[in-house]
Formats: sequence, C-alpha cells, structure tokens
Amino acid sequence: MPLNWTASLRELPGIGQARAASLEKLGLATVGDLLGYYPRSYEDRRRMSTVAAAPEGLPVCLTLTAAETPRLSRIRKGLELVKVRLVDDTGSLTATFFNQSYLRDAFRVGEDYVCFGKVEGPPNRRQMTNPVCERADRVKFTGRILPVYPLTRGISNNLLAGLTLRCVEECADQAEEALPHGLRQAHALATAEFACRNIHFPADEIALETARRRLIFEELFFLTCGMALLRHRRDREAGTAFRIPPQEEFRALLPFQLTGAQGRVMEEMAADLSSGVPMNRLVQGDVGSGKTMLAAYGAWVTARNGRQCALMAPTELLAEQHFRSLSTLLGKAGLRVGLLTGSVKGKARKELYAALEAGEVDLVIGTHALISEGVRFADLGLVVTDEQHRFGVGQRAALAAKAKTSPHVLVMSATPIPRTLSLVIYGDLDVSVVDELPPGRSPVETYVVGEDKRQRMYNFVRKLVGEGRQAYMVCPAVEEGEDQEAAGKAAVAYAQTLQTEVFPDLRVGLVHGKMKSREKDAVMTAFAAGELDVLVSTTVIEVGVDVPNAALMVVENADRFGLSQLHQLRGRVGRGRHQSYCVLVTSTHNQDSRERLRVLSKTNDGFKIAEEDLRLRGPGDFFGSRQHGLPQLAIADLAADMRVLKEAQSAAEELLHTDPGLTAPEHAPLLARVRRLFADHGDMFN
Ligand code: ADP
Ligand code: MG
Repeated sequence: MPLNWTASLRELPGIGQARAASLEKLGLATVGDLLGYYPRSYEDRRRMSTVAAAPEGLPVCLTLTAAETPRLSRIRKGLELVKVRLVDDTGSLTATFFNQSYLRDAFRVGEDYVCFGKVEGPPNRRQMTNPVCERADRVKFTGRILPVYPLTRGISNNLLAGLTLRCVEECADQAEEALPHGLRQAHALATAEFACRNIHFPADEIALETARRRLIFEELFFLTCGMALLRHRRDREAGTAFRIPPQEEFRALLPFQLTGAQGRVMEEMAADLSSGVPMNRLVQGDVGSGKTMLAAYGAWVTARNGRQCALMAPTELLAEQHFRSLSTLLGKAGLRVGLLTGSVKGKARKELYAALEAGEVDLVIGTHALISEGVRFADLGLVVTDEQHRFGVGQRAALAAKAKTSPHVLVMSATPIPRTLSLVIYGDLDVSVVDELPPGRSPVETYVVGEDKRQRMYNFVRKLVGEGRQAYMVCPAVEEGEDQEAAGKAAVAYAQTLQTEVFPDLRVGLVHGKMKSREKDAVMTAFAAGELDVLVSTTVIEVGVDVPNAALMVVENADRFGLSQLHQLRGRVGRGRHQSYCVLVTSTHNQDSRERLRVLSKTNDGFKIAEEDLRLRGPGDFFGSRQHGLPQLAIADLAADMRVLKEAQSAAEELLHTDPGLTAPEHAPLLARVRRLFADHGDMFN
C-alpha cells in the first residue's frame, strides 16, 4: 500500500506496538511527524577507497567481494564473533563483527558489498571491526551523507534513518508547499520537496545548506506570521473605551514627581485605553525605572471606570510587595485591593473569591493563583502581568480569558530584550520604553573580585553596615538542573557560616525559595524595616523587591549567572539616596568568564548587557525553559539565525500587508502551518 503524509508509522514494516510507543516518545506518530523530525548532525560516508589505499584511522567505504563463508565463534558467554574475508582488486581484509551472529548468513561468497568503517593493520593483515556492510546493489546507509537523529531507548539511528529513507522516497514529493511561489523566488528558497529530501539525505553539502536555509526560514516565517495574526485578530476586537480622568488626580496620590518617561507611557496607555480597541502594550524598562507606578495608573483608570484590574506577578514575594505598596497608594483613592497567592487558603480565599465575583475588589494582585479555576470576576477590564518574561503567552491569555469581553492588557518587563528577539517574543504587542530612572540615583558601582579578596569584601560589608546601610548576599548558585531544594540547603549553610563565623555581631537573615511564603514575608518585612543588616538569599530576590536602604549586593559564584540576571540582581540596590555597590565574587580563573563579568562594571545599560548576553551565551537566558510560551522550534535557533530571522520578518510583514488575516485561498496551506506551530497554545487563532 502506498504511504502518505498522514499515514501512521505502524504501517511501516518492522514497527510493532513497542517501537511505535518508543517513537511516540519522540513525538513521532505519522509519516509527516517523521519527515519533520530533523537530524541533529550528519555522518559523511561518501569517501570511497580500496583495501590497499585506505587511509589509517579514517572511515571510508570499500566495495568488496566476499571470499569465503563467514565463520562464527563463541569466545565466551556473551561474546560471539563473526569473521569474514573480503577482497578487492588491491588486496584482502578480514571483517570482524562482535555479537552480531545474524551476519553469518548475510554474506554470500562471490557477491559484492559496500563496507563502511576504518581499515586497520599492515598491508598483509588488513582488517575492519564492525563495519557497516550492505549488498552493493542495495546500498542505503553507505556512500552517502547519513543523518544522525536524536534518539530514545529502543530506537537506534539505523532504524530511524531506515524509516526516514523509506518515507522520503515515497512521500517527499507530497510535501505541501506552504510558502507562496513569489516569496520563494524573492528569497531564493528551495521547494518543500527539495528541503524534505535534502535535510534527511543530502545530496551534498550545498544541497544540505540550501535545505536548512529553507526550513529555518519557513519556521521563523510561520512564527512571525503567527504573532502578527494574534495581533491582527486582537486589533479587530471590540474593547471598552475607558474615560480618562485628569492625570493630575493620579499624580496627587504620589509621594514623588513622575519621571518624563513615566508620564509619556501614561499618555500612551491613556490613548490605548480610550481607543475602543483593547490595549496590548508591553512596557519595557530597566530595573528601578518605576514600572509599578504605571500598573497603578492603569488600575486607577480602570477602577474609575467601574471595572476591575488583575495584576499578576511571578513570585509570592513580589505579589506581596506590590500589594503592600499599591494598597497604601490606591487605598487613598478609595480602591479596594486584594491579594491572591498560593498561601491564601481556606476561608480567606473563599471570601476573596466571593468579593471578586461580587465586584467588591477593584484591584487584585497575585501570582499565577489568579488563573485558578475558582477565580471569577464581576467585570475584569485590565490585566497586568509584571516581569512578563517569567510567564508564557498562554498564561497571559488564560488570565485575559476571565474577562467577559476582551480586556485591556499591559505587560511589564525589566529584562531588556534585543529588538529582533522582542519582535518575536512580543510581536503581538505595542511597546513602550521607560528609558529614564527616577532622579537622584547614582549608578551602582560594580566590582569583580576573586577569592583572594574575600576578606576585603567582608570588611566592606561591615563598613557599610556600620554606616547604617544594609546588604544583600546572594549565595552560591547551585548547578543548573539542581532543584530549589538544593538551592535552599546551600543558602542555609551559607547563612549559617556568615552568622556564626563572619558576622557574629551582625543581624543576618535568610530567604530562599523553599520557605513558606509567610516565613519569607516575615524576613523580608524585617529586612525592609531595617531589623536585619544582611539578607542572605537565593535568586528569589531577583525580581522586583524594593528596599531603598540596601546599598550593597554581593553575588557569590557570579560566573554561574547570566549577565542579564546579574543586572537584575544589581537592580535591587541603588534604589535610595545612598551610593550603592555590587560585588561579584568569582573563583574562576578563566579569562573569558572574568571578561564577561567586567561588562557589568563598565555599563548600567540593561539593553547593552542583554545584547552582550545574547552574543556570549545565546538566547537561552531569554528563552529559557520555554518561559516565553513561544512555540518550540524544530530547526531554527533564534540567536544563531538572526539574519534569516530578519529576512523572514520582513517577508512576513510584506505578505501580511496584502493579506492581514491570511484568508486568501492560496494562503490556506500557510495558515494551516502557522496554526500547527502554535497548536500547543490552545487554538489561538479561532
Ligand atoms: P521597576 O521598574 O523595577 O518595577 P519600581 O516600580 O519597583 O521599579 O520602582 C523602583 C522604586 O522607585 C520604588 O521604590 C518606587 O517607589 C520608586 N519610584 C518610582 N517612580 C518614581 C519617581 N518618579 N520618583 C521617585 N521614585 C520613584
Ligand atoms: Mg518591578
């Protein structure tokens, strides 16, 4: 029976239940899945040679004739050898196979085979160990560039390559062309069929490169189109046009003058909120630029229109801090503010749910607990997410879905993201930048020090505490992959050493991610009230925490952090009137690592630091663990393929200009691919 793109892999010979289950683990159920499962690398098996001429140590292909029937010998239990003598015009060699006794029947005297492997030994005793051998009239895995796939238990590369070869041969010509002809021509892209054949079994290096470019381009193109469609769809939704009360009334609530940048963003928000189309705005601003006030402004306008606002923060600590500051500030204007985190339980939670549903709360601040099922709003008008990079597009959408009509959406992020990436991550949003810090802040002085300066670092902590300041000490980062538990333990040990051995006379506190929220809260409150001199913590304080009297940030094992993350940590200090410092401790002698850290002592500009991070570490820090909720990419690498990304972005822009909803019949295959790429996100395109 002929195969097609949607056929189940079970229809292929050799695929029973067990193998099908293993393939399923790799996400492979159909022929189409398999053809979209790209090699991780390639093995070049094209070099041909002869017995006499084969180079030492380099794998080659030889065309050989079997000169005898293979011999099987059992050396001992669990070790079987098959040996066979093979010849060509230039000489003879012995091929030895370990534990592949079935090969005894695979060679017939007088027949030709292509064998791939290393030829070893002196001219009169040439031999090969475990070569790949195929009958010369039926070569599959020799004499060509062979794909190497990511594997799982029970699935060998030979099996996968064999299946793929069969599918390529039978189905590549059915590959659907989702890129419009004109676009392919304009950007010199190969056809879908060519790409499918050559990404798996490339004819040569150039064909491989051509196939790769096409596939990377299409993936980034689909991604960009998807984001643009999201935006297009939303731009046509009806939203509520808010009345905008005079800004002075809001300003009158504040203990300080707003910065010019804050004022400008407020104007931008006001224009969105009153437009009749839902606001979808990203506010990007470096740590300490005062983004919280913008959330407060949004909540205030919303409440003045008789609607509710939800503010979602990534950690309980941050949610609680926002709750403290905003309930004071907005309470003066009569807003009723609630807090919903995982620690709000039982009766309190029920009461809050009831109040939200009855419209008795104007602003609710919380963690992702806000998207729990029980949460219902009387009339949700504005959704704000703080530190957006910690959430996915999906979570933002889930919160927005709690509104009866499309709510206004404001997302805030302190992670400055290079522009090209931000177009991908936030392509569906308008962007405002808060590019000004409140007055009176002097840049944080930053030093990179080695272990030899540890004592001096301690002395410095003591000196600043003596002057009435407070210090954060972020404890040694645990290795990536270790969990919060390990991080917590390391923090406890570190805090103990500091308290008992280094600073017995100072007040040392500790917060880490494994603590109960109430305990964390108590410690943070004590620190904010000046009852602690030194606060030891894991990176839980990374985002948002605000204690103006803290003037020193010490980060241990700083080389284990990304620059942007260190910049965030550093942003915890320098928030008050006092000159502040950041000391990055590292024991690494690696010059590159040290050089990398020194970028922080040279600049306070979050965008520059982000660019540097991107250059040095790739996009992992921006795209870590799918935090952005972007679709998983099969072949493109957002940082490495930056040039193709730009090209795909402008191509998408051009196409969507003529067909903003991709509704033209000739774009149906394209729309289908875009939908499939975003399939994990629920149906975002309905
Ligand atoms: P971020 O942008 O990092 O979220 P925050 O909103 O936490 O910054 O603000 C940092 C600190 O600056 C807070 O203590 C806040 O009260 C204060 N702040 C915000 N705006 C101003 C301003 N215009 N003038 C003075 N201080 C401000
Ligand atoms: Mg903040």
